[in-house]
Amino acid sequence: MSEQEQFNQELCGFLSQAVTPFHAVAEMAEQLRSAGYSQLVEDESWTLEAGGRYFVTRNGSSIIAFGLGRESGPAEGLRMVGAHTDSPCLMVKPAPEIVRQGYLQLGVEVYGGALLNPWFDRDLSIAGRVSYQCSQGQLRTALIDFREPVAVIPSLAIHLDREANSSRSVNPQKDIPPLLCQLPENEKADFRALLRERLLEEHADCGVDKVLDYELCCYDTQAPAVVGLRREFIASARLDNLLSCYSALRGLQDWDGAASVLLVCNDHEEVGSRSAAGANGPFLASVLKRIAVERETYAALTERSMMISADNAHGIHPNFADRHDENHGPRLNGGPVLKVNANQRYASNSETTGLLRMLAEKAGVPLQSFVARTDMGCGSTIGPITAGEVGVKTLDIGVPTFAMHSIRELAGSADATNLARLLTHFYNLRGSLGAS
Ligand SMILES: [Zn+2]
Repeated sequence: MSEQEQFNQELCGFLSQAVTPFHAVAEMAEQLRSAGYSQLVEDESWTLEAGGRYFVTRNGSSIIAFGLGRESGPAEGLRMVGAHTDSPCLMVKPAPEIVRQGYLQLGVEVYGGALLNPWFDRDLSIAGRVSYQCSQGQLRTALIDFREPVAVIPSLAIHLDREANSSRSVNPQKDIPPLLCQLPENEKADFRALLRERLLEEHADCGVDKVLDYELCCYDTQAPAVVGLRREFIASARLDNLLSCYSALRGLQDWDGAASVLLVCNDHEEVGSRSAAGANGPFLASVLKRIAVERETYAALTERSMMISADNAHGIHPNFADRHDENHGPRLNGGPVLKVNANQRYASNSETTGLLRMLAEKAGVPLQSFVARTDMGCGSTIGPITAGEVGVKTLDIGVPTFAMHSIRELAGSADATNLARLLTHFYNLRGSLGAS
């Protein structure tokens, strides 16, 4: 098996475990532990040592991992990478039971800018975090994942809507509540009772008395796969942005320990990042201040550091090529894409992209560039938000994909390995991160 095939197989393994931001963080924490990173807790005092490898989580859905260099400390500049753990999905409402025509359905909210059409006719499962009261009266939380396909949103047959192919639109309140099961008339629908059973199945000794609340997402059970006649593509849910989280994680695992490095993966990017755990919240700044210890060191750290914000880009789609600027149409497998926007929807500037171009050449990684059509709006990511919060110079990069925010997105099978290689080179880069 080639290095790329091996990498993609492991990426697919990660994607199928990381079905919610909570599960993504749990999986990353596990892999960091095996790579010698030890867990810190935010409400305890920290003793950090040169050469040390650490990670800390917030809300169970955001994570920061860092390593303090043996040769240059954090005041000499941190090599930082940022990504996000969340993806658009359907989330179960607090009182979700809907019983109609003998079916039990779940009320769901749309999280983020989901492309809704692809959610129909999929074998869906449910996963996330549950809070419960245990028999001794304490509040606890645990992760659950049904794994099996337990829900489905069937399409309306074309015979009952002849205009379906030309004008069907999706009403998220009315059209998407998934079917869980058929319910005999004498049976009462109780979603929390169902969750209690599941908790006991996955955590036999959790001591659950009653389920209080939850953050649960529906997700597609179809496994991630390498597809295409020549195996050119990776098809999976949540490539935006777990592909970047995983590539950066691999970079940290291959860190040589010389310079100081950091990875931040935030929740809530898809809904604007404004939360305790989001990029527009205090998590990263709080950790950086504790790494720096003193105010003067913190000022030097932020001035000398650099952040690569890694989030997927839009590849030019052969059926819709006019949606791209003619000189900026990144192709799948053409390499990671530098994203630029004059209006600061992306944080890249010519100093940061210049450094990255030199680095990519050394690493033997091809680069492409993206700027949105001048007559179209531009997406954004955690790059400008982090730059605005912390004041670290930043650039935006990401692998080109199709079908962003669909339940099944598509990336090039060579691009993730190339991104990981580039980020590893960045983590292992010596010297100054700015122009002299
Ligand atoms: Zn994204």
